[in-house]
Amino acid sequence: MTGYSKYSFWLETAGEDLNPRPALEHSAEVDVAILGAGYSGLWTAYYLLRENPRLHVAVVEKEIAGFGASGRNGGWCSPKFPVTSAMLEQRYGREPARALLTAMYDTVDEVGRVTDEERIDARFYMGGGLTLARGKHQISSIQASRAAYERLGLGDRNQLLSAEETRERVKVTDVHGALYTPRSASVHPGRLVRGLARAVERRGGTIYEQTEVTSFEGGSAPRLFTRAGELRAKIGIVLAGEAYLSRLPQLHRALMPVYSLIVLTAPLTEAQWSGIGWQNRESISSNRLTVDYLTRTADGRILFGSRGAPYVFGSKISDEQDRHEQTHARARRAVVEWFPSLEGISFTHAWGGPLGMPRDWMPAVAFDPSSRIGTARGYTGQGVATTNLAGRILANLILGKKTGLEALPMAQRRSRNWEAEPLRWLAVRYMQGAFARIDEAAEHGRTPPLDAPIAELIGKH
Ligand SMILES: Cc1cc2nc3c(=O)[nH]c(=O)nc-3n(C[C@H](O)[C@H](O)[C@H](O)COP(=O)(O)OP(=O)(O)OC[C@H]3O[C@@H](n4cnc5c(N)ncnc54)[C@H](O)[C@@H]3O)c2cc1C
Repeated sequence: MTGYSKYSFWLETAGEDLNPRPALEHSAEVDVAILGAGYSGLWTAYYLLRENPRLHVAVVEKEIAGFGASGRNGGWCSPKFPVTSAMLEQRYGREPARALLTAMYDTVDEVGRVTDEERIDARFYMGGGLTLARGKHQISSIQASRAAYERLGLGDRNQLLSAEETRERVKVTDVHGALYTPRSASVHPGRLVRGLARAVERRGGTIYEQTEVTSFEGGSAPRLFTRAGELRAKIGIVLAGEAYLSRLPQLHRALMPVYSLIVLTAPLTEAQWSGIGWQNRESISSNRLTVDYLTRTADGRILFGSRGAPYVFGSKISDEQDRHEQTHARARRAVVEWFPSLEGISFTHAWGGPLGMPRDWMPAVAFDPSSRIGTARGYTGQGVATTNLAGRILANLILGKKTGLEALPMAQRRSRNWEAEPLRWLAVRYMQGAFARIDEAAEHGRTPPLDAPIAELIGKH
């Protein structure tokens, strides 16, 4: 076991040693060169090779496959999209919004299908998803979401549950109902990303680890630059580094790194589970602006994730930010607030990582035939399934194949850049503070802060 296992419970239990693959040692030429061995880069490589096994595809990774969010996330493989259904409809119209969300449901199935076919032991489990109204103030949010799905003709995929019906599934305090999505799955993120890397290699792809891309260039000779040499690409290059792309000067303001933090309990006893229910292992969240997400792991633990670690000036990313004691402590307290019968439960792991947030919350999956630069990025906290869809879209765009996916609203677009500092720091810190104040006021039955409407309007997505 190498030092990489410390980055998450998922990497620790990925079922393999995490010894890095060989690095790129000298310049080389391939057909497609991909920056980043997370789900985005690997799914893109996978679908390119599946479509054309003769292609030479190489993935260049600074650390090891799965080092980023793909090896650290909450394990929801859900049809939820980073932009809400209501906002998608408002921005793109009914049919494009419906097509995108329908593709997301199919994507959950596709991840299950491929993990089966490729014998990736990703612990894919279709347990469904529950968005809880935790507190009376959250009822209107789940009703509004349900109404938006109904307008898009997707009402049958998202059912409203009463408080009683919700409690039959899981016993959480202060629950007033839920939106239930049956076609939503959970996975072991570490096993998925590491298994996917091996599937890419079995299909002839090459993965160079411990190799940082320091810069890139498009045009007639697109290439990724590394300290050991350059990787030239005859067809094109793909930038799939998510939050870490902000470290490249050319993309510094394209995405904002936002930290999501997780705590994990020890396995619960049968008696503890029987007091809680949750037998179907649904992925659970509430409507908190500061975000909470819960998973019942295959080995019987509770994973509780939350945002809240403060944004660091200049979009800095560092290992130190993976652990923010205040946010981790709040998540540990929240487990007992949600499930009081677990008072005294021990926690075995705490970790975190950066996700990439675009200025308008909308992922961008694009390939420009003139610069021959492609990218798939900006999933905020909803990338486990979405990256698979992105990989299929990008492979189509690169190979000029038409299946209809390339017409979805996330294809061939880009978000505007984030503001320059210090404006970015000021705005993001203000929003983080405002969301926390709004959540706290609502949970304590206090009137919302005066600036709540403005903050909610800015944060609408
Ligand atoms: C704590 C946490 C919880 C989350 N929970 C969920 C969840 O439950 N469900 C969900 O749908 N989504 C979740 N997400 C989001 C999801 O994990 C991501 O959207 C998804 O993994 C993004 O995959 P990616 O391949 O685009 O990026 P990453 O997995 O971040 O991969 C990018 C890779 O590129 C490499 N890289 C970057 N720059 C360079 C460079 N210059 N040179 C070489 N290599 C480079 C990095 O080392 C990294 O390995 C969560 C994210 C986090 C952080």
